[in-house]
Amino acid sequence: MFQTPRRERVYDVVVIGSGAGGGTVVQVLTQLGVQVALLEAGPMLTPEKDFREHQMPVDFPHRGAGEGAPFYFGKQQRDFFEVKNSFWENPNEPYTVAPGSQFKWFRSRIIGGRTNHYGRISLRFAEYDFHPYTRDGLGVDWPITYADVAPYYDKAETFIGVHGSKEGIPSAPDGIFQKPPALRVPEILIQKSCRKLDIPCIPARRAMITQPTNGRAACHYCGQCGRGCLTASAYSSSQVQIFPAMKTGKLTLFTDAMARELIAGDDGRIQAVSYIDKNTRTEKRIRCRTVVLAAGACETARLLLNSKSARFPNGLANSSGQVGRNLTDSVGFSVSGQVPALEGLPRHNADGVRGSHVYVPWWLYDQKNDFPRGYHIELGGNFRYPSVGAFHGVCNEHEGFGKKLKQQIWQEYGSTVGVTGRGEMIPNAKSYCELDPSVVDRWGIPVLRFHFAWGEEERKMAKHMEKTFRAIIETMGGKVRGVGRTMSEAGGISVGGSIIHEVGTARMGKDPGHSVFDGFSRAHDHKNLFVADGAPFAGNPDKNPTLTIIALAWRMSEYLAEEMRKGNV
Ligand SMILES: Cc1cc2nc3c(=O)[nH]c(=O)nc-3n(C[C@H](O)[C@H](O)[C@H](O)COP(=O)(O)OP(=O)(O)OC[C@H]3O[C@@H](n4cnc5c(N)ncnc54)[C@H](O)[C@@H]3O)c2cc1C
Ligand code: SF4
Repeated sequence: MFQTPRRERVYDVVVIGSGAGGGTVVQVLTQLGVQVALLEAGPMLTPEKDFREHQMPVDFPHRGAGEGAPFYFGKQQRDFFEVKNSFWENPNEPYTVAPGSQFKWFRSRIIGGRTNHYGRISLRFAEYDFHPYTRDGLGVDWPITYADVAPYYDKAETFIGVHGSKEGIPSAPDGIFQKPPALRVPEILIQKSCRKLDIPCIPARRAMITQPTNGRAACHYCGQCGRGCLTASAYSSSQVQIFPAMKTGKLTLFTDAMARELIAGDDGRIQAVSYIDKNTRTEKRIRCRTVVLAAGACETARLLLNSKSARFPNGLANSSGQVGRNLTDSVGFSVSGQVPALEGLPRHNADGVRGSHVYVPWWLYDQKNDFPRGYHIELGGNFRYPSVGAFHGVCNEHEGFGKKLKQQIWQEYGSTVGVTGRGEMIPNAKSYCELDPSVVDRWGIPVLRFHFAWGEEERKMAKHMEKTFRAIIETMGGKVRGVGRTMSEAGGISVGGSIIHEVGTARMGKDPGHSVFDGFSRAHDHKNLFVADGAPFAGNPDKNPTLTIIALAWRMSEYLAEEMRKGNV
């Protein structure tokens, strides 16, 4: 039974989800004076209490490895020091994977969503990324162009703060950058190796500020970004967008509020959102003039599919049948190596941000390759502060124990490098999500069942990655130590979803027969329904998606505010 207050308030806009997309919508709309209600399935985040940025393992029982040290045995899902409430598997909110498929789904349940946990690599799509079909006849073109999004990339980069360098490379458009941090020893060696191979290796582009910005202090290079950044020098939607929006008086926040379905009238207008209040385990309803979906690409598809009624038997916004289809993730492939030139270096201050200070943009964009599309390379290695289990690898490499083993570890510490690819996947008919007919979560809501298959194109790309990454390590004088990652399929290509760039599940397009949203992220079928996460992506270029999620959410919010002003919503 719904619990409804006696006199129901009607909110101008109800936003579902507080990650990159939802945080941006809340920021932009409240600044424009719109009254917004935000539903977030997780609890509030309190950085002073929740973050472990500068805490030491020695201060915690079992150094943070957990009772019985499950972390040593690969059984603890996440590092104890990482920001809380992120999961590969959440027993309260499971998902299923169809026989014959492999898929992983990473979720965060907390104000700010996955922006509390993400790597903050912030890359613009290239001009050509918006019309891939026109280039090679695969996938579909976007209904928008780079020129439509560029002003919003500018706004996003200026507001959240991104460091980087202007390079004039067509596959990696320049943005509005703050000064990048200086390169460290392994990064200088990697850059030299790439130069010999004629591969461009340029300063990384990440949403970590290197100069004071809008009241946030510049980064102090503690390298602990995954633990949460108390000075908010690393962007998270919680600290940078939602907390300031709360001070405007325009935002009403509902935490632990798991949206279950959208309720549409016979005219197709969304009238309310029903949600589970997780604290009381009751179902409640919130009325709205407009809804913005920002629960993450797959959760957004799940919500639409779960919003079934006699009038909309396939769920909402689904007259095209495209909700849940076109699921893609980035192609991932990793090679690690050990580089003797980095052994036994005098210990020095190698501070910086967490993650590499360099990256390789796609460099073969103007030539014919034996696979379509492209990839970029993320590289790394330095004297990172060791966490529990950090020396497993080196212990496996050497025999013995005691002083001799310790000397080996000391000698090799900081001499390993990782080379990782992120490539474009082309949507295919075998990769999609749907409602599981028999499994519900703890709140009684039907869960998603995933189907996933890489195509030949992606497998060929992964082979190219392996050859290139081996060459980079060997040109540094290093030896390859490992191929693939923990979540790899046979041959080393990543398991679908494990790169955490899942998008495309309710794509945008010009034709309502083949797409769910239009070029302003508004549902073809429902005038007052919008989306602000990765669901409407019409493709999944090699660039990590979050900067584009923010830019599109910003653009959609300005459009929505204007449509509201004109009375068109
Ligand atoms: C470890 C890690 C590293 C990453 N590195 C990068 C990177 O370097 N660069 C990059 O571009 N991307 C990276 N990503 C991906 C990035 O985090 C996501 O692209 C981005 O956060 C997606 O934003 P979003 O708003 O769509 O969803 P999310 O950030 O997932 O936010 C969705 C929010 O909605 C809430 N929600 C879900 N369902 C409901 C519901 N039914 N009702 C109410 N609320 C709901 C969730 O609790 C969550 O808070 C990384 C991700 C991880 C986890
Ligand atoms: S390295 Fe910089 S951005 Fe990262 S946690 Fe430390 S201060 Fe914050």
